[in-house]
Amino acid sequence: MKYYSTNNHSIKASLHDAIVKGLAPDKGLYMPERIPALPKAFFKNIANMSLQEISFVVANTLFNDDIDSAVLKDIVYDTLNFPIPLVHVCDNKYSLELFHGPTLAFKDVGARFMARMLGHFNSLDNTQEEVNVLVATSGDTGSAVANGFLGVPGVHVYVLYPHGKVSKIQEAQFTTLGRNITAIAVNGTFDDCQALVKSAFMDKELNDAMKLTSANSINVARFLPQMFYYFFAYAELAKREQPLDNIVVAVPSGNFGNICAALIGKAMGLPIKRFIAANNRNDIFFKYLLTGSYEPRQSIPTIANAMDVGNPSNFARILDLYGNSHDAICRDISGCSYTDEQIAQTIKQTYDNVGYLLDPHGAVAYRSLEEQLKDDETGIFVETAHPAKFKSTVEHIIGAPVEVPERLAAFMRGEKRFVKMASAFSQFKKFLLAESAR
Ligand SMILES: *Cc1c(COP(=O)(O)O)cnc(C)c1O
Repeated sequence: MKYYSTNNHSIKASLHDAIVKGLAPDKGLYMPERIPALPKAFFKNIANMSLQEISFVVANTLFNDDIDSAVLKDIVYDTLNFPIPLVHVCDNKYSLELFHGPTLAFKDVGARFMARMLGHFNSLDNTQEEVNVLVATSGDTGSAVANGFLGVPGVHVYVLYPHGKVSKIQEAQFTTLGRNITAIAVNGTFDDCQALVKSAFMDKELNDAMKLTSANSINVARFLPQMFYYFFAYAELAKREQPLDNIVVAVPSGNFGNICAALIGKAMGLPIKRFIAANNRNDIFFKYLLTGSYEPRQSIPTIANAMDVGNPSNFARILDLYGNSHDAICRDISGCSYTDEQIAQTIKQTYDNVGYLLDPHGAVAYRSLEEQLKDDETGIFVETAHPAKFKSTVEHIIGAPVEVPERLAAFMRGEKRFVKMASAFSQFKKFLLAESAR
């Protein structure tokens, strides 16, 4: 199957090229040319399948033209060799905890899958040229990608992050690794980091000098595997003999890669009735739903900082998926926007009344269900990060200590190393050219 550019459907690439290049040559995002349907029988039997089994069927349905099934199976099973439980919170609301991977981020799955796919496709190239992965992060992407790619032969990762705007634990997760991982502290915002990465992909001289790709959710191998969880969540409800015809899923959204993958899952046949795209004060998408016009802005810093995005890159994919129809988008997705005070209040109340500790991102999704779920609907809210990643914020809100899992504590003991960078592209380009000459 080919992947076309959201800017121009006649610009097409193979899966291999879409993964290695990241962005289409006209700056569009790659989309699968066809959205294959899963057989009805799959859903009848899904309650008896493991996460790995479910994910392999979904992945094989999407990618089987382009990669050997046995190789794909190894990639999927190796990507998902950790538990991802679904926790029952209270009546008619389920927490889908996606943070049980190596860096306790939901992005671990996409990053690990992409690292393995890129490693596979690169090994088929006989040029032996190193691939350089550029990734802009507001915190979680950097840690997941750095750890997902750590030690993958033939790949070097550059993580760009806004200096002083990510939590200490997050920073430790990508600055202490060394080996094939370089951290770059940018004097600016996440949007500045994202702009540097985009400019690098567009720069001819750089691309002639080195093989560049992206591990942000613009990359198809990063964002598509995120749909696995939603099939798994459906299976968990089926296992618990819950009603399956009115499922509503609330997704904390920043760059909209996660929810976009889920929407493609729905287009493949996953019976989710509707989605809520949950936002903090960065409400560009919510405004779009309300008004029909999309107006990107500078991002505003919030306590749910992985969602501080002023121009969500996957918006282009959502528009494309729904044929640019605002009505069609509004039928499947509703939105919300909460202030830091509302997020904090939700964390405190849920901790006190329900005994469940939300992180600031999951809290946005939880609150949207509280406000929007109808009586006949079954709500799932996505928990995208472990609360300990935002330890001081969460402790301050609940007035109680938050235990840091050993996996996170281990990162804090490493030595942080990073390169400082201004937000001007010229400096970044010079740095990369010097790296390519190493
Ligand atoms: C990345 C991230 C999000 C947003 O996901 P998108 O796919 O960019 O919409 C939400 N919560 C956390 C904790 C994240 O790390």
